Amino acid sequence: MTSDIRIGFANSVGNTPLIKIESLSEATGCTILGKAELLNPGGSVKDRAALFMVLEAEKAGTIKAGGTIVEGTAGNTGIGLALVANARGYRSVIVMPSNQSQEKIDLLKTLGAEVELSTPAPFSSPDNYYHVARRRSEEIANSFWANQFENLANSEAHYQTTAPEIWEQSGGQLDGVVMSSGTGGTIGGVTAYLKEQNSQIATYLIDPTGSGLYSYITTGEFKAEGNSITEGIGINRATANFNRARLDGAFQGTDQQVIEMAQYLLKHDGLFVGSSAALNVVGAVKLARKLGKGHTIATILCDGGGRYQSRMYNPTWLAEKGLTPVAKGLEFIDD
Ligand code: PMP
Repeated sequence: MTSDIRIGFANSVGNTPLIKIESLSEATGCTILGKAELLNPGGSVKDRAALFMVLEAEKAGTIKAGGTIVEGTAGNTGIGLALVANARGYRSVIVMPSNQSQEKIDLLKTLGAEVELSTPAPFSSPDNYYHVARRRSEEIANSFWANQFENLANSEAHYQTTAPEIWEQSGGQLDGVVMSSGTGGTIGGVTAYLKEQNSQIATYLIDPTGSGLYSYITTGEFKAEGNSITEGIGINRATANFNRARLDGAFQGTDQQVIEMAQYLLKHDGLFVGSSAALNVVGAVKLARKLGKGHTIATILCDGGGRYQSRMYNPTWLAEKGLTPVAKGLEFIDD
């Protein structure tokens, strides 16, 4: 008898399934693959970054026994960090903007993190959660500021694990990859690795409205208009992790497309995903149409829908935002 036992939390992160999304593969004539990061122990793609940042800090001696991990996060990195902190004997202090979903805030508290809600503010303001977290780490003795935006252990997690898994699971038969960006960790690590395996793989960003990355990739300048209901993605600056990305181009996706795709995946494929995952899949359809039939395209299913039940899966909330889903098929993706 063989055994397949993973030792502790650290070894239970990653090795997620790569799922063929059958409805969309059929509809596009391509093979559309979703890396099921929602199946990580903390329920998101950020578990990998959380783990790598802590292991790296232990190696470098920047976190010591009984220390405190401090981070500013839209939620998922905090969830991963809180779990790693528990498993490795640290305290966790998580600063997040107060406009994130209540589910994520409640979950963080349940996991044992000390949660501080900051006033939603742009990066240029000292109230932005990034700056608040940095200040907290300066105030707390024996603490480690994970700094996921600039800490390259974040993208390294995806360079060393997510991307090689996608490459192996697809048997190297990959024509394109597309995803959104928050810190840039996933897109930085995944595209850097895949381009090294095969420079012909088409690498694309899909950006929500309100984010400046689309214009940065297409024109070299940061310009952003509007806002988005998506959480954890979209940014108006190039982080160290994002700068690792090797990209061929960029798409934009709207909130209506996110909501329609989330419903589409739930109804057709039994896939219950969060807003960034739904946007990523919109990107996969756009890339399929760009490359033409017969291609294999992978994207990231960053987290699950349960984290957003009170929002993007709540008809009342959607109606208030004017985002009630109406599509019959894939007509909501028009380009
Ligand atoms: N989706 C969700 C739900 C997230 O929380 C994040 C991280 N903020 C991302 C996508 C983006 O990942 P990354 O930080 O690696 O760009």
